[in-house]
Parts: sequence; C-alpha cells; structure tokens
Amino acid sequence: MDKNINDIIRQDLARFRGLLKQYDNFYDINQLHALAKYPFLLSYPQVKKHWKQYIDAGIRNNKDLKNVDLYLHIPFCRSKCSYCLFPSMPLKGKTQAEGYIDYLTEEMHFYSNAFRNIEFRNIYIGGGTPSILSSAQMSRLLKNMFGYFAFRKDGQRTSECNPHSASKPVFSVLRDYGFNRISFGVQSLNTKALRVNKRDYQDFKVVKQRISEAKRFGFTDINVDLIAGLAGDTLEGFENSFTKVAKLKPYNIVVYGLMPPRNSYLADNFHMNKYDYFTYHYPPMIKKALRVMAVICRKYGYIPDSLDPSKFHWGFRDKGHSGEDPGSGYTGEYGGCTLGLGSFSRSHIHGLLEYRNAQYVSHFNLRDRLFEAKKITLKDEMAKYIINCLDRESRISLSIFNEIFGDNLIKVFPYAIYALKQLKLIYYAKDNLIFRFRNPEDKYIYGLFFLK
Ligand code: SF4
Repeated sequence: MDKNINDIIRQDLARFRGLLKQYDNFYDINQLHALAKYPFLLSYPQVKKHWKQYIDAGIRNNKDLKNVDLYLHIPFCRSKCSYCLFPSMPLKGKTQAEGYIDYLTEEMHFYSNAFRNIEFRNIYIGGGTPSILSSAQMSRLLKNMFGYFAFRKDGQRTSECNPHSASKPVFSVLRDYGFNRISFGVQSLNTKALRVNKRDYQDFKVVKQRISEAKRFGFTDINVDLIAGLAGDTLEGFENSFTKVAKLKPYNIVVYGLMPPRNSYLADNFHMNKYDYFTYHYPPMIKKALRVMAVICRKYGYIPDSLDPSKFHWGFRDKGHSGEDPGSGYTGEYGGCTLGLGSFSRSHIHGLLEYRNAQYVSHFNLRDRLFEAKKITLKDEMAKYIINCLDRESRISLSIFNEIFGDNLIKVFPYAIYALKQLKLIYYAKDNLIFRFRNPEDKYIYGLFFLK
C-alpha cells in the first residue's frame, strides 16, 4: 500500500513539474488553478446565469453580499515594454479607445440587471495603461459605470497609471468619482535599462511631477511599482532607482523580481534559459537587491512587509503615512467575488465559477463563447487560499484556516499533507504548517498538490 502511494506521489510530482514546464508560467499564481482542471467555454448569458444564481441564493439565505468587486481592463499602452507580461498592446488611435469604451459599456448594460441588488465594494481599473484614456474618455467610461452599477462609499477605488500618460484632468475625473488609490508603473529609472526594455520615453522629472500632483489631488494611497533585475540594469542602477523613488515619498513602493516573458527576452538579454535563470541568476540577484532595499528603507522611513527572498514581490510602506498595505489594491481577496469586464479580464464567483476573457475583443456579441471557465467548489476556494498564503509567506496558520473555513486543513487535504510530508517539504511548528522552499517553483508544486 505504502509503495503504491509513494509511486503515486512520485508520479504526481513529475506530472506537476511537467505541467509547469509545459505552460512556462509557473510564476503566475492565477494560472495555477487553470492548470489543474481543463477549462470549458461559456457565453455571456451562461456566465450571467451563474452570477444570478449566486446573488439570488445570497439574498434568499441572507448571506453577506458585500464583498463583490469590479475589475475593468484597459488593454492599451503607448508602446510594448520588452519585459511586459501583461495582456496589452499599443493603442492605434482615438477611435480604437472610443470603440473599446462602447464595448465595455455594452457589457455593463448586459450585466446591470443581474447586479441591481448589489453594491460593489472595490473598483480596480488595470491594464495595459488605463491613464492612456483622455479625460473625456475616462469621464464617459466612469459615468456609464456609475450609471449601470451601485458602489459602496467605503470601498477602495484604484486606477493604474503610467506617469507619462496620466494628467491632471485624468486625476480630476478619477477624484470626481471617488477614486482614492493610484498605482504608478515606473519599473526603473536607469537610462540603460529603460532603453534596453523599450521604455526610454520615461523621464524622472515627469515621474516626480506626477507623484506630487497625485498627492495634491488627495489620493489617499499612492503606489509606485519597480522591477529588480531588468535586462540592462545593474545592482547600482536598481539602488539608484529605488533611492530616487523613496525620496519622492510615495505612500507605498512595491518591488517585483523580474519574471521574464515567454519570448526570447532571456536568451537575447541574459543568454540563458529559464531553468538557469531561476536556479543560478535570480536567487543571488534578489538577495543582493533585498539587502540594498533594506538599507534604503531604513534611511527614508519605509517599513517592508517582508524581506523573504523566496517571494516574487515586496511591499514597502511609508512610516509617516497610514495608508493601505502595499499591493492591497487588487480585487478578489478570499471570500469575495470579482466581476471582470473587458478583454483579458478575470472573474470569480465564490464557490461556484471562475472564468476569464482570454482574448482581445472590441465588439460585444452575445453569442460569443468567449469565456474560458472552470467550476469551483469550497474545497477549491480553500486550496486557493493556501496558494495565496504561499505566495506571501512560507507558513499557514492552522487556527486561522479553521476560523475562516470552519474546517480542519489537515482533514480536508489528507493526500497533499501526506505527500508533502513524505517528500520532506513541510513540517509543523506549533499552530503553523511550515513549507520548505528550495526555489521559487516549489510553491507552485505545493499548490498543485492541494488542487489535486
Ligand atoms: S506600460 Fe505597463 S502594461 Fe504597458 S507594456 Fe509597459 S509594462 Fe506592460
């Protein structure tokens, strides 16, 4: 019996490693669930039916329906940065943006009656580059959105911005609609790294001006994203970028370790494959960058959320500002739902369905079977919670799990726990289950055991 189960564990381990290799995207935690189950295709009326089912059941059973978020994806950018992993494309002109807003408006109209009893909590406009819309376009988009849907007053309302396309009129429109959080994609201030990564239009003076304008407009949370390890950058270059940004005092800074895109970026710039990059190049590079970040944080008054090198991103909060947690602007925390609108958006109906619009769409067509979907159960939600914990740190508190789900993690996932113990990848320490990470890939392997 033991021999059989150990064979199964070994086979699973080999299969999971193969899956991650095949999909070449083990660093995208959102993809992990999709790897475990083959998605099926749904149309607009079919996904709306699931939403209605969820909302009607919630109302019937007096359930808390306060955690429904809205995500809008704007897939356009000024140009495509070489390192970019996001679904985005260069904007071809004003007409394309206008047509896309029409498409989003038709989607809102289509869903509006299903959501008439819901007040959305958070709004997140991501991309691409939402700030590439003119103030008139942003105003039309938000006017339509607030016309079709209702929103709680205490929610977080975020828009991603590129410092070079954001403008005072766009900030003004966002503030008129109660947006309280701006997330600037800056990535680097090193001239060579910007040139190598086809982002050489970026100018420090503009970044500085935009951050100070956003403060004057009264956004209560202003975040700047940076990337450590870009092609063309050096440790000194990264240190310089981080220092310059820290001196501007945004309320949060989030640093991402470079996750290379699937194209020839690694081969062209680093002359190595992904295995070598993550085994030999990435870990020492990140450790050095983290040492630099720790020193700069102390000097400029930022508190790190963690300096754990097995993570892929690290948040730093300005001590003098009582804002949100770094990186907290994303919709879709545990227990909540997200309605995603637009090309490449993802939606999540708690305990029922996850789906994504995986292509660029410019016209609303009711009959299109656009959405790659998968059914999800409460056990899937638990696995997802575990995976999200692993993305943040290497431990899970058993009592917190019990508090959230009213269930015992060890009993719900006996196979995953047994397998990971046999592989000597986990151990207990008081109330915690501790995961041993040897490289960044491990947490995704662990996740797949829980999703099995
Ligand atoms: S601006 Fe941002 S979303 Fe657009 S291509 Fe560059 S990194 Fe990607």
